[in-house]
Amino acid sequence: ADYVYGPGRNHLFVPGPVNIPDPVIRAMNRQNEDYRSPAIPALTKVLLEDVKKIFKTTTGTPFLIPTTGTGAWESALTNTLSPGDRIVSFLIGQFSLLWIDQQQRLGFDVDVVESDWGRGADLAALERKLRQDATRHTIKAVAIVHNETATGVTNDLAAVRRLLDAYAHPALLLVDGVSSICALDFRMDEWGVDVALTGSQKALSMPTGMGILLYDLHTALDLIFEEGLDNVIKRHNRLGTATRLAVEAWGLKNCCRKVECFSDTVTAVVVPPYIDSAEIVKHAWKRYNLSLGLGLNKDAGKVFRIGHLGNLNELQLLGCLSGVEMVLKDVGYPVKLGSGVAARRRTSRIRRL
Ligand code: PLP
Repeated sequence: ADYVYGPGRNHLFVPGPVNIPDPVIRAMNRQNEDYRSPAIPALTKVLLEDVKKIFKTTTGTPFLIPTTGTGAWESALTNTLSPGDRIVSFLIGQFSLLWIDQQQRLGFDVDVVESDWGRGADLAALERKLRQDATRHTIKAVAIVHNETATGVTNDLAAVRRLLDAYAHPALLLVDGVSSICALDFRMDEWGVDVALTGSQKALSMPTGMGILLYDLHTALDLIFEEGLDNVIKRHNRLGTATRLAVEAWGLKNCCRKVECFSDTVTAVVVPPYIDSAEIVKHAWKRYNLSLGLGLNKDAGKVFRIGHLGNLNELQLLGCLSGVEMVLKDVGYPVKLGSGVAARRRTSRIRRL
């Protein structure tokens, strides 16, 4: 049969959902509780304060919503805007496309700013729009995906804030941090982000949809603070760099075309035209119990994605990179086995590639 679990552990390298650390799994294994007991506010009070730390905010109000990233999108929009409001929204890949689709279906006036997939948000276009809107203020919000998971592109949020400030424009800055927060540098207060949202199944390394008990979040945050949030971000940079060095050593191209926008949580790898990237993903699963991300929409068949986020260490990633090499060889790509894994040794010298 095509899709059955092979022996051993599944190597989960889709860009979310990611591995759940064992302590987090154990933390969820509990009896139901009396939700009116003093134990619940004692837990949530700490949690709400801790959540602020991963968003780097002291002034923001955290909301824990049992929903998916898609649900958080909707909540961010419907709680801050009214139908008919104009939103400038950047289209740079499949997730920004889906958010825009939701914005349109919710009845907002969506002013789409599109870039080629593989490039970041077109900030020159934003500047033109802000200039035209400098007095009328018809733009009520700017919506941006910090890290486009489909293409492995990270947008420069500080630059968006600088533009809004340069025109003293009051538009709200709404940020999808689903595949960035807790893995990439994110500063809600400093960058004047009005609404930032994330998902539990990405860098927080929790089950999808925030799980059933709050205890998993408590433990997931404990693990992050124990390592240190800045160290977690540095680790993601190391793992992202290692992946990019491997891709380069294989002679393949990164879908993201701008070095400053390379994502440290996901790398989308462009395959040569004679290979169908969906075959790579299928073969990886079937032969090696390795889960990779598919190319989405415009990128279908052209890219596969390696997720390198969450509770993950170097040897785990090297296992994935070895697996990708074997898959590439199996599908007829002339890869030198070991080249990607060997390239990773340079990460101690290179900070960001
Ligand atoms: N935003 C981004 C950047 C994502 O990567 C995803 C999912 O991969 C979503 C939103 C949607 O999240 P969910 O699948 O939890 O609805």
